[in-house]
Amino acid sequence: MKKVYTHENLTMLQTAKGLLENSGVDCFVKNEFHASGGHVGLESVPLELWVHNSADAETAISLLESELSEQSDKPAWICSKCKEENDGSFETCWKCQTENAATEQAS
Ligand SMILES: [Zn+2]
Repeated sequence: MKKVYTHENLTMLQTAKGLLENSGVDCFVKNEFHASGGHVGLESVPLELWVHNSADAETAISLLESELSEQSDKPAWICSKCKEENDGSFETCWKCQTENAATEQAS
């Protein structure tokens, strides 16, 4: 097992975990309960994303670096159908699953 990513935000960790799972990398989150419990006496316990197979670590890290750094450049967008604001990392509206038209134009 090998640690490939840490973040204090559970949402970011789950995004990272989803990316790896989509790529067929077997992974899991450590310290997850600290984030929701908040009774351990520490201000923030960084969450950790681990891969079961250490051989996957290099693939996982490069995947996360490219995917997550790319996401941070994307601005939030407004759904053309339901007018909900979506995070730049979402390719489709979280509410109605309409595709982000701006993503198509960019590529
Ligand atoms: Zn929508």
